Amino acid sequence: MTFAVDVVTLFPGAVADYCATSVLGRAREAGVWRLRTLDPRDQTDDAHRSVDDAPLGGGAGMVMRAEPIVRTVRATPDLARPVIALTPAGRPFDQDRARALATTGGLTLVCGRYEGIDQRAIDLVCDEELSVGDVVLAGGELAALVVIEAVVRLLPGALGNEASIEEESFAEGLIEYPHYTRPAVFEGLAAPAVLLSGDHGRVARWRRAQSLVRTLERRPDLLERRGGLSDEERALLEEFASPPEP
Ligand code: SAM
Repeated sequence: MTFAVDVVTLFPGAVADYCATSVLGRAREAGVWRLRTLDPRDQTDDAHRSVDDAPLGGGAGMVMRAEPIVRTVRATPDLARPVIALTPAGRPFDQDRARALATTGGLTLVCGRYEGIDQRAIDLVCDEELSVGDVVLAGGELAALVVIEAVVRLLPGALGNEASIEEESFAEGLIEYPHYTRPAVFEGLAAPAVLLSGDHGRVARWRRAQSLVRTLERRPDLLERRGGLSDEERALLEEFASPPEP
């Protein structure tokens, strides 16, 4: 079944353009997913089609009004669920959430602008809030695209090589091993000799060891979350004791 994505945005063109390129574009053409953009300005009654107003209580900037967003959601009976607001205050988006969302059949992403969305719109029509990192973007569109791309590439038929999903970063609570392609030596830097050995078993073990070393060095929080290293993983690290082989 085609995975349904609805995006509530003041910039439908920006979202649609990106979704027409590369993996997302090909997967859409193949019928793996569909995109529909909904502009809250279409749910305004005033001549200026205004979607923002000054913050209650004063302060800088403008706030996205609740009504156009709530009306947009309610005026679309076949809206995809869950409805997710993109906000810096949301739960951090990660690969586990992407995997879970890929099984839902669809989702709606609500993009904020200005100082953010009137909280009542989020409370009334959104199921959850997601953040794409501890950074502040100018709008939710890039955040929505992050979610869309992470989810869509996990859908069956979206990628040419499904195996790459199983091996990539975060698949087992680890970040991925480094990649190399030809030439074997570039600007004096040789690719690891094991990759040229033709010994597939050893290559697989080296890659897993690299994955473990990198996660230990760069993301010990991920290892902690998965309960540390197994005995087999410790043995693997000893087999390819640091520094990594040239
Ligand atoms: N005043 C807000 C704050 O300090 O948290 C920032 C609002 S931001 C300029 C405008 C919109 O961009 C937000 O309503 C949200 O939709 C989106 N946005 C910005 N950063 C984001 C992030 N890290 N994750 C998800 N959405 C984000």
